[in-house]
Parts: sequence; C-alpha cells; structure tokens
Amino acid sequence: MILVVGGAGYIGSHLVKELVEKKQVIVLDNLSTGHRYLVDERAVFIQGDLGNRADLDAIFEKYPIKAVMHFAANSLVGESVVDPLKYYQNNVAATLTLLETMLKYNVKNFIFSSTAATYGIPNVELITEDYSTNPINPYGRSKLMVEQILADFASAYGLNYVALRYFNAAGAHESAEIGEDHNPETHLIPIVLQHLLGQRDKISVFGTDYDTPDGTCIRDYIHVTDLARAHILALEALLDGKKKTAIYNLGNGLGYSVKEVIETCEKVTGRKAVIEYTDRRPGDPARLVASSQKIYEELGWKAEYSLEEIIASAWKWHSRNAK
Ligand code: UDP
Repeated sequence: MILVVGGAGYIGSHLVKELVEKKQVIVLDNLSTGHRYLVDERAVFIQGDLGNRADLDAIFEKYPIKAVMHFAANSLVGESVVDPLKYYQNNVAATLTLLETMLKYNVKNFIFSSTAATYGIPNVELITEDYSTNPINPYGRSKLMVEQILADFASAYGLNYVALRYFNAAGAHESAEIGEDHNPETHLIPIVLQHLLGQRDKISVFGTDYDTPDGTCIRDYIHVTDLARAHILALEALLDGKKKTAIYNLGNGLGYSVKEVIETCEKVTGRKAVIEYTDRRPGDPARLVASSQKIYEELGWKAEYSLEEIIASAWKWHSRNAK
C-alpha cells in the first residue's frame, strides 16, 4: 500500500486519482487546506496530522506501507515571509516526524513535493537540477531544508527518495470532478478564470518592469495530471530499485509571461478581462523555466499538456464549480 500524505490537496488529489488505478492507496490529510470531496472514493481516507506520532503509528501499525508520497505543506511565498514559524513547523518539523516514523517501521521509499522556489533568482534560460539553490523566502528554504535532510537520511539510514521540484502547477483533471480549490486563491490562472466567470471585478498584474520581453514575469506552467504521472514513474523507479535517490524538475520547458497567460485565458474562454497594472509582488523572480531533460532521460517523462489545454481543463472545472 502507498501512503499519500496531503492527498486531499490540489496536487495530491490528482496523484491519488491516477494512483488508485494501480495501487492500494491510503490518504492522510488534516484538511487544513485540502478538501475531503477531492479524494477519490477508491482510496482509504484518514483525517489526521503528519506531525502527530499517534496518528502516524496507527497507520503504520495497521497497513503494510511500501512507500510514502508527501504532498502536505504550506506553499504560499508571501505568507511564509510574514509567518515563517508556520512554514518551518509544518513543512520541516512535521516532515521530520513523518520520516522518523517511516524509519521506525522500516519504510524506506519516499517521494517529496519540492519546488522551483529552491533556486531563488536563477540567471539562466532553462534551470537544470544542478543549478545552485539559493531560496529567497522561508517557503523555498523550508523545502530545501527537507531536501538536505533527505540526502543525509539516504546516506545514514538507506532512505530511498525522489524530490520533485514543481514549477507552476495548473489545470484540472480531465473529468472536471477535481481541480484547483484554494481559499484564498492566489494563483494566476484560477484568478483570471474566476474573473472571467464574473467572480472577481478585475485582475491585477503584479509588475510590468521586469527584465522580460513584455515586462511581466515569466513562468513555466505544468498540468497537474502531468505532475501526477511523473510521481507515479518516480514511485515505480524506487519500488523497482531502479533509483535510490534523485531530484527532478517538473516543468514544460516553456515560459509564458503573465500577459501571455491572460491572453490565452481570453482566447480559450472567448471572454475579455479587465486588467489593472500594479506594483511588483515581493519575492517574485522575473523568470522561472525548467529544463526537464533529466527526468525525460532517466524516467521517460515529459509534459504532454500545452498552456491552452491546461487553461481549457481549468476552465471546465471552474465553470462547473461556479454552477
Ligand atoms: N500574478 C499576477 N496577478 C495575480 C496572481 C499572480 O500578476 O493575481 C503573477 C505573479 O506575480 C507571478 C505569476 O503571476 O509572476 C505566477 O504567480 P502564481 O502566484 O500563480 O505562482 P508562483 O509563480 O508565485 O508560484
């Protein structure tokens, strides 16, 4: 059985929906930001906390867990700057309790949700995994700390792990049964689509004076189902013994500016956005675009969905949810 911690969240729930086709899945989630309705009915759902030893012991004693996939984290850059304790507590300290429990029960396979925020402000077109890590906010640092812990645990205790550095996850499952449901929503694509559905008066573009062709930030948007598939390949590589440790970027390798994303949303929906241009949002690097060559070469993964397809799938989900 596979334990998915944070399986009621946006990315975790999309992974669970794919994984239940192949494995028995247990989801542990405290529902602090996740939603029960996102969890596929074929998975066992347990409401509990990964920082709580009793909750973890109950699961590891009852179920023969072969691997743990860890999605449960706080992930807002701005919030991490004003409340770093929350980030180090939930993202680092609670993860240590989870890892300690895994070792206690001799479970040695771990898939970790990491982030492009570990790179800081990179100065290259396409970021490769060996690019220096220099996170510029507590969120990025909390994720990098866990990566460092994992490397030490691999050498000392023989933990096998894959850390996946996500770029900008977006889109919704093709069934439109599950999708992105954050409260409050801070991400660009859902905000634009909510506006185009009449749920917001306007959208703000944060900064037009970046060193990019149109002055707005460039990001690499990756469909959440593409992310889910990468996790399954990484899990299989650990379970088959093909990999002991690895770090991979997960992105499209294509950069789109904030303006281009808004234009694509207008094109896909046939609606026109009201845009306000405002100051930069603190902590935003001008450009973050992945090279995903390494995971392609080692595990055969590449992103399948284009930006238009990502937005179309999100539009289907948001339109359905709005009704
Ligand atoms: N952004 C924006 N307006 C919004 C939300 C986001 O201009 O209402 C910009 C943001 O500054 C960044 C890009 O869109 O350059 C992607 O932001 P998002 O929060 O979606 O993801 P992040 O890159 O921070 O993980």
